[in-house]
Amino acid sequence: MGVVQCDVHGEQSFLEVCKHIYAEYEKGIISEMYDFPVLSVKICKNCFENLDLEGIRDLKIDNLLNDLPDDIDVIEDEISKRYDKIDRRIICFRCYDELKKKV
Ligand SMILES: [Zn+2]
Ligand SMILES: [Zn+2]
Repeated sequence: MGVVQCDVHGEQSFLEVCKHIYAEYEKGIISEMYDFPVLSVKICKNCFENLDLEGIRDLKIDNLLNDLPDDIDVIEDEISKRYDKIDRRIICFRCYDELKKKV
């Protein structure tokens, strides 16, 4: 888990989101978020649908550790391919949290 240097809060942990969520966030809006499988990235509904994540959305890192599927390499590959397609932005976690309390 990395940190972000926030102008307000200094070094903080952060939330990784797609650029669409970020754009809304900049306007002071918390949009509906979808979990990208395994990796802790939040994406919008559009990205979720465009990335065709239906098949792999149920994969949780815990499940993978307990019961490693035979095709784990394929799954990892599928996930990282999609991850690379997301235009990602970073939000300071505390800024996000404060905005969430306001709305
Ligand atoms: Zn998006
Ligand atoms: Zn902040």
